[in-house]
Formats: sequence, C-alpha cells, structure tokens
Amino acid sequence: MSNINLVVGAGFSGATIARKIAEDLNEKVVVIDCKDHIAGNAYDYRDENGIMIHKYGSHIFHTNLENVWQFLSRFTSFNTYMHKVIALIDGIETTIPFNLRTLYDVFPETLAVRLEQKLLAQFEYNKKVPILEFQKQDDADLKFLANYVYEKVFLHYTTKQWGLDPTKVDGAVTARVPVYISCDERYFTDKYQGIPLEGYTKTVEKMLNHPNIEVKLNTPFEKSMVDQYKRVIYTGSVDQFFDYKFGELPYRSVYFKMETFDKPYYQSNSVVNYPCNYDFTRIHEYKYYLDDQTDKTVIAKEYSTNYERGKNEPFYPIASEANSNLYAKYKAEADKLNNVYFLGRLGEYKYYDMDKAVGRALDLFEALK
Ligand code: UDP
Repeated sequence: MSNINLVVGAGFSGATIARKIAEDLNEKVVVIDCKDHIAGNAYDYRDENGIMIHKYGSHIFHTNLENVWQFLSRFTSFNTYMHKVIALIDGIETTIPFNLRTLYDVFPETLAVRLEQKLLAQFEYNKKVPILEFQKQDDADLKFLANYVYEKVFLHYTTKQWGLDPTKVDGAVTARVPVYISCDERYFTDKYQGIPLEGYTKTVEKMLNHPNIEVKLNTPFEKSMVDQYKRVIYTGSVDQFFDYKFGELPYRSVYFKMETFDKPYYQSNSVVNYPCNYDFTRIHEYKYYLDDQTDKTVIAKEYSTNYERGKNEPFYPIASEANSNLYAKYKAEADKLNNVYFLGRLGEYKYYDMDKAVGRALDLFEALK
C-alpha cells in the first residue's frame, strides 16, 4: 500500500480535505473526479457574454461557522452580497421567507396591520417558525394566514420540487424557509454571506493548487483503488460505493433551461420563485451575483425531477424515515472500513449547504490527524 491519499470528488468536501491533508500533514493526495471540471455542483464559469454562470443553479455562500469562513477566506475574497428571494404570489412580487413586510405586499393594509399585531402578540420578534408548526393556530385570523402561506408559498412549490406535498416531506426541509416574524427580508441571516469574487471554480482551484495535490478529471472511481492508497476519502454516493447492495438511495434531481436575452436585465432579482405558477420552481438570473455589467442577460428556469442513475445528476438526498434507515445500513458498512471515509451530500446522504460540507471536512481532518 502506498503512502498516498485518494480523494474521490473535487467539490467543496473533497477540496477541503485534500488541502488539509496536503498542507497540514504534508502527505500526497490524488483527487479524482468523474466530471470534466472541479468544484462539483458549485461549478461556475464566465460565458461568452462575460456573465458568471452557476451551471448547477444559484450557489450563495452563507455561514455562521467561524472556522469555515476563515479557511475559505484564504482562497477567495467574498463580496457583501446578501441574498433575497422574490416570489410571485397572486401576481405580486414579494420577499420570502414570508415575513412581516410580506403581509403589507399581499394583503390590504387593514388586514395586514391586524395580522401583524396578532403575530407579534403570539410570537417573539425575530422568531423563525416552520410552516408545519405555524399551521397550529387557534386564532381565526392566524389560521387564515397559515393556510394562505401554506397554499401560496409551500404547497405547489414543494410538490414541484419534491413530487410530494409539504406534509410528506421531512419537516427540516420546509423549515429551511420558515415564516419569519421579522422585517428582515434576507433569505439567510448568517453572519458571513457572499459570492467569491472570482467565482467558486477559481476558489476550489486555489484550494487544490498545492504541490502535494494532483487532480485527475474524467476519472471515475473504481473499487480496486481502495487497496492502493493509504486513505480514501469518498464524496460520491455512498450506495454506489457499496454497489447498491442494500438498494438505491433515492435522490431528487433538477435541470435547467437556459435562455439569453438581448437586454440588460430580465427580472428584478437574482432568483424569482414561482410557487403557484408554471412547472418550473424558480428562475435564476446569474449576473446579479457579481454585478456583471453586460448588455445581455442569461436566465435559467429550474425544473425538478426524479434522479435516475446514468440519466441525470443526484442533487438532493430525500429525507424520510425509510431513506434514513437505508442510509444507516450503508453507514454501518462504511464504519467497518478502516481507511475509507465518507463526506458530503452524497457520501453522507445529508442535505448539506456548502459551508456544512466544508465544516464536515474540517471536522473529519481533526479526527484523522
Ligand atoms: N420552499 C417552498 N417554497 C418556496 C421556497 C422553498 O415551498 O418558495 C420549500 C421547498 O420544499 C424547498 C424547501 O422549502 O425544497 C427548501 O428551500 P431552499 O430554498 O432552502 O432549497 P434549495 O435552495 O436548497 O433548493
């Protein structure tokens, strides 16, 4: 067995652990990726118009994890972009998470005032209330509001996104976008937020740019590699690693239809959600993220679909009791291996944001060394 480490996958999880091993342990690392690019689903590129495109949909960095922010800031500067999401509800543009200001956008003022007063009497200011909890209201006005938000924000969007209505989707998923008893209209409230000034791909490229790291693209993982390396850190699908021996873990996939327009802007915001209309969930307009100044604009309409192996990409693990039981079987197998470690959305079958992926990789490194 060699003294070299193998990292499978050149996304944030893989790049983080590769860098830490290469730099802090001064050991050689080979990073392979089956795709023809690094940065996983955070991959971005400047198109012929000069617009930074997020190939796999909008990626907005946000974190409260000090160690993650410090670590990534070595490889990139971030702008001070704070994400807002506009949703089209009853033909009205308003911000979500549904917040106190949303009331005034979608309701007549007298009703908005009454609802706001009742909300402030019922909930602490700045409380984030998951929709499934928000529905448990006794007051008739608040019940009306809860039904309104459920129907207009969550029901159809979640059905499009997951193929299930919100009561059948794990509560933690819809809780990512709570009802927010606040005038804060931002999508995230984390201390640190922003877009890497030169993009995500460049950031990951810098993470991987180390004399101890060798990157091989278009290189699928093969089981026989395990015996050839000191350690293997695997960020692909855990069920694939074990040849699906307990069955396939389900994922949700998305695809994007891109369009270019001969005008500076298409919509009023980087992301506009369509919770009640059309078959796509949202439209991304990428030039907003780095304030690209161009005469043209590029948008991507996002559609959701089931993941089918070999046909499309796995994007989202699907949280459910059955799936976590299935994952637990793979995890038990994984724990038996003494030189293979699993990381990332696919390796741990967890709906991680970018910062959590980096955080998990930093934690694994602490445990390894
Ligand atoms: N969601 C919704 N309506 C919205 C936005 C989100 O119902 O307008 C629900 C939906 O189930 C979605 C979940 O909240 O999958 C989490 O949304 P988030 O924006 O965090 O998803 P991501 O950006 O990771 O796809």
